[in-house]
Amino acid sequence: MKAFFASEQLLHQPLQFMRAGRICARTDVPERAATLNAVLAAKGISTQAPPDYALNLPAVHSTAYLNFLKDGYPRWQALAQTGLEPGPEILPNMVPYYNGRIDQDQRPECPSPSVIAQASWYLGDLSSPVGPHTWTAALRSAHTAIAAAESVSASCGMAYALCRPSGHHAHHDRAAGFCYLNNSAMAVQRLRDTYASVVLLDVDAHHGDGSQNIFYHRADVMTVSLHADPANYFPFFTGYAHERGHGNGHGYSLNLPLPHGAGNDLFLDTLDKALMTIRDFRPQALVLALGFDGYKDDPISVLQLELDVYRHVGERISALGLPTVIVQEGGYMLDAIGPALDAFLQGVQHSPGA
Ligand SMILES: [Zn+2]
Repeated sequence: MKAFFASEQLLHQPLQFMRAGRICARTDVPERAATLNAVLAAKGISTQAPPDYALNLPAVHSTAYLNFLKDGYPRWQALAQTGLEPGPEILPNMVPYYNGRIDQDQRPECPSPSVIAQASWYLGDLSSPVGPHTWTAALRSAHTAIAAAESVSASCGMAYALCRPSGHHAHHDRAAGFCYLNNSAMAVQRLRDTYASVVLLDVDAHHGDGSQNIFYHRADVMTVSLHADPANYFPFFTGYAHERGHGNGHGYSLNLPLPHGAGNDLFLDTLDKALMTIRDFRPQALVLALGFDGYKDDPISVLQLELDVYRHVGERISALGLPTVIVQEGGYMLDAIGPALDAFLQGVQHSPGA
């Protein structure tokens, strides 16, 4: 299996995030990527650096949002020239009205040229700070996903994109949940250049709200997400079973929320239901958004998954026999994410479909 990773992805060094009214230590540390890289190396899989596609990105995000991410930090620092003392990273301090309805069209650009206003418009929460190297790291993370998609398009095989920062909470024009650019959505969109229909299956513990939103009106991309019930878990506002897509996309969005505390058996039974729906859709290619934060000891987990679950996920994905891009999403327990990836790769290799 080919694997892709860009060393610039390590440059993103968030300082903090807000949880239940408290500033917490960051969980998306660069060591996450180093740990996963070490697992690949131990299995004899060497990562390739993706080409520098610069801003030649699959059309997933608005230009105004990309410009904010690209130019925001120096503009934030320049606030010092106006007498303000900006903090070390961009964080929003307003919550502009946004109806949040996923069946409606995208928002317009931020009406204000102020970087303070744009921070509140384009950063959806206090877990997505923009530091001096966030743009570089996020862009290279997206390049990693695109390179994996191009590799799969050329080979019809499987490729792993070691993306960090993650992407599945990033909307068309909005960062959230440690995510800035939606790597999985970009992989889907690049696969669409070759394949007529693509499924995005998300097995991270959190609902892939950004990914769902990006494809919510489309019938050529099905999004399927298994995740902890969002009623009491991030991202709270979407990820419910009644969300089935809108307009042409009606029926092409599937959410399978799991009760908090769910273990391997329920997770895998639910995954089997998801795979039946996916087979009925007859996709030509698959993107797997792979997160390990459902592991029982992950610091933000509410599920009770054992590491072995990821071997079963690998087996089932491989058995589909589809051209597949695996995009790394969450997973924050440094001692666990390596063994989790190892288990997943074992499953892929041992599957009859491999
Ligand atoms: Zn997650």
